Amino acid sequence: MTPDYLIIGGGISGLLTARELSCAGASVSIIDKSALSTESSWAGGGILSPLYPWRYDDAVTALFLWSQEQFSALSDQLITSTNIDPEILPSGLLIADQPEDGSALSWLNRFNVPHEKITSSQIKKLAPSLTHSYNDLLWLPHIKQARNPRLLKALRSDLTLKGVQFIEHEEITEISIKNRHVSAIKGKQISHSASNYIVCSGAWSSQIWPDKGQIQIEPVKGQMILFKAKPGLLNQMILDSGRYLIPRKDGRILVGSTVEHSGFDKSISDEALNSLKQFACNRLPELKNHPVEKQWAGLRPGTEKGVPYIGKHPEIKNLSANCGHFRNGFVIGPASARLLADLLLNRAPILSPAPYAINPKVKPNKDVVDLRTKPRFL
Ligand SMILES: Cc1cc2nc3c(=O)[nH]c(=O)nc-3n(C[C@H](O)[C@H](O)[C@H](O)COP(=O)(O)OP(=O)(O)OC[C@H]3O[C@@H](n4cnc5c(N)ncnc54)[C@H](O)[C@@H]3O)c2cc1C
Repeated sequence: MTPDYLIIGGGISGLLTARELSCAGASVSIIDKSALSTESSWAGGGILSPLYPWRYDDAVTALFLWSQEQFSALSDQLITSTNIDPEILPSGLLIADQPEDGSALSWLNRFNVPHEKITSSQIKKLAPSLTHSYNDLLWLPHIKQARNPRLLKALRSDLTLKGVQFIEHEEITEISIKNRHVSAIKGKQISHSASNYIVCSGAWSSQIWPDKGQIQIEPVKGQMILFKAKPGLLNQMILDSGRYLIPRKDGRILVGSTVEHSGFDKSISDEALNSLKQFACNRLPELKNHPVEKQWAGLRPGTEKGVPYIGKHPEIKNLSANCGHFRNGFVIGPASARLLADLLLNRAPILSPAPYAINPKVKPNKDVVDLRTKPRFL
C-alpha cells in the first residue's frame, strides 16, 4: 500500500515526525540508509537544553520552551506503550561559564527558566565529588536529560505498534520530480512512492534535497567518551568551557564533545580521547579510577545559527523537510515534529513557522555559508 507519508531518515527527527503524523491517523513509512537511528541521534548526549541557551536565536528558544513541556508526558506514554524507559530524568544542569555582561541572567529571567547562582559551599553539598575549585556556578535545576539509545528504541517500538513501516539499509539517491510533484524516490535498486515525502536526513539533507543551496546543512563531527562509573558519583549534568559531563541512571558518565569540521568522516581520535578524559578528570577527579568503556563520533546536522528547516518545499507540492537541528535535535525535536505536522495537516501551528521556512531562493555558490569560517559559538 502506498503510504500517506514517506520519511527519509529514521533519526530523532524522522521518528518524532512519524509519531505526530501517525497519531493524527496518517499512514507512514520511514526509510533509512543504515539501521534505524544509528547516526547523530544515537551519538548525541541527550541534554534537553541548548548549551548556553542565551546564545541562541529566539527561533530556537521557542522550539526549546515548547518541547520542554512535552518530555514528561512523552516519557510516560512510551513507558506505558512499550515498557521501555527512555530515562528522561530531571538531573538539572550546572553551568560554569557565565558571561560578564549579564546576558545569561537576563535571558533566564526573560523566559522564566528557573535558576540560581550557587556558591562553593552549596556546590560542595550538591555535588561533593566535583573539584572544589569552583567559586560559583549557575544552577538550572529543571533541565532534563534523555538516554538517546533508549528513547530511540522506545520510539521505534511505539511506532511499530502504531503501524509505521520501516525500510532499513536503503539509501535514497534521487528525488524524482514531475510537474512540481515528487513522483518517486529512488533507492539503490528500486523506487519508492508515497503521497507525500519528508526529508529528515540529518547531516545528509542538503545532498538529497532537489534544489541545491536551498537547504544549507553541513556535517559537524562530535566525539564522545563514556566512563563506566558507579551510581551516585555525580547526579547533575555539568557544562564547563564548552564541554560537559552527563551522569546516566546506571552510574555511567558521558563526556562530550568535540566540534570538528571534517566532512562526513566519522573516525575517532586519540587526541579527542585524551582531551575529553583530561577535561573530565579535572572536574571530577574520582573518574581517574574508572575505565573509559567506549568512544564514538556522530555527525551533527550543522546550520549557521542552529535554526532548523521545518516546512514545505516552496514549489514542490508534496515535499517537505524537518532537518538541520545542529546541536539540539532532542532539545527541540518534539516542537519541530509537531510544527511540521501542523503545517502538513492544515492545523493551527503551535508556533509561527516563518523562522524555519525554506527560502524559495537558491543561493548562488559564492553565498553558500561555510561553517568553517563562521564563529563556532554554538
Ligand atoms: C556528539 C554529539 C552530541 C550531541 N548532544 C546533543 C544533546 O545533548 N542534545 C541534543 O538535543 N542534541 C545533541 N546532539 C545533536 C543531535 O544528536 C542531532 O541534532 C540530532 O540527532 C539530529 O537528528 P536527525 O534525525 O535530524 O539526524 P540523524 O540522527 O543523523 O538521522 C538522519 C538519518 O537519515 C538517514 N539518511 C541520511 N541520508 C539518507 C539517504 N540518502 N537515504 C536514506 N536515509 C538517509 C541517516 O542514516 C540517519 O539515520 C548531539 C550530536 C552529537 C554528534
